[in-house]
Amino acid sequence: MRPLWTSGTATSLRTGFPRVPLCPPWFSSLLPLLIFVLGSTACSKGSSSARAEKAAVSTPAPESAAAPGPDSTPPNSGPLPQIDSKRTFQYIKEIVAFGTRPMGSENHKKVENYITSHLKGDQVEDDAFTVDTVEGMFPVRNIIAKYPGTKDGITVILGHYDTNYPLRNIGFVGANDGGSSTAILLEYANHLRGKKRDGYSVWLVWTDGEEAVRQWSETDSLYGTRHLAEKWEKDGTLKKIKALLVMDMIGDADLNIERETNAPAWLSDLVYQAAERGGVQSHFYARSAAIEDDHLPFVKRGVPSIDIIDLDYGYNNLFHHTAQDTIDKLSPRSLEIVGNTVLEAIRMLDRR
Ligand SMILES: [Zn+2]
Repeated sequence: MRPLWTSGTATSLRTGFPRVPLCPPWFSSLLPLLIFVLGSTACSKGSSSARAEKAAVSTPAPESAAAPGPDSTPPNSGPLPQIDSKRTFQYIKEIVAFGTRPMGSENHKKVENYITSHLKGDQVEDDAFTVDTVEGMFPVRNIIAKYPGTKDGITVILGHYDTNYPLRNIGFVGANDGGSSTAILLEYANHLRGKKRDGYSVWLVWTDGEEAVRQWSETDSLYGTRHLAEKWEKDGTLKKIKALLVMDMIGDADLNIERETNAPAWLSDLVYQAAERGGVQSHFYARSAAIEDDHLPFVKRGVPSIDIIDLDYGYNNLFHHTAQDTIDKLSPRSLEIVGNTVLEAIRMLDRR
């Protein structure tokens, strides 16, 4: 994915591959003043997050607190949904063990088989096709697992499983970038399997070809989801989607989920409220950014969509798209924080 900063200036910042400054260029000159005025907010990493998480005081949702949405929904009375974070972490280890997994590679095929081997007995569909890129032709395969609900409508959760093609020869294994998203969806399948949901149907999509094959652009990126969004537009599926959530790079031990500004305010707020219910809101929305990721083809078609992503992976995003994107940078606790929050968000969406 690619970040485009929106806070502060209206100018989009095109950042050098692969490293991405986390603050706009004017930030450093204003830093002393901002620190004085804002304390540890703004572009900092929110050093007080652990304290805030444990505090009983509820932080108000940032920005559009008065936006229409689920605010009037009574607090959830049932226990919060829980993922098995150790099992999810183990999935990442197994995925990483395949090695680098770019489109068209043998290892990619192995991960496809790994995913489908965990979906036995589920309703699984492929969106498989061939794409013509600047690096040649590639097979692309989105894997879709459908879990029916009682309500008319669909909540879609997407996460990509390919690793970056330009990094195929540097030992890039994408523990966070590609690994964490694949694993969390496998864990969600465990939760959804074998029971009819009292709510919307949930479709899990392991997307392919999220990464650029040479350099990120509108035509060199998001191969899988651009195809899927077009297909779902033609067959009428898009109209049934109540919300679409992309999960990407969610395993960083130092977890800070962005407020992704392509998302409608009500959906951002709903996710924040889900985090509040778990008391983990300090890991959400310290920073705002517009990010180009798998949700964009759906955003462009009017589907309420959000990218759940931590694009501050290591100091100054140092580990992103490097051989250092390895399992030791991740933690089961982060998977639990994001995993439980999105499960709760899915439940809250059922009541909208
Ligand atoms: Zn990536």
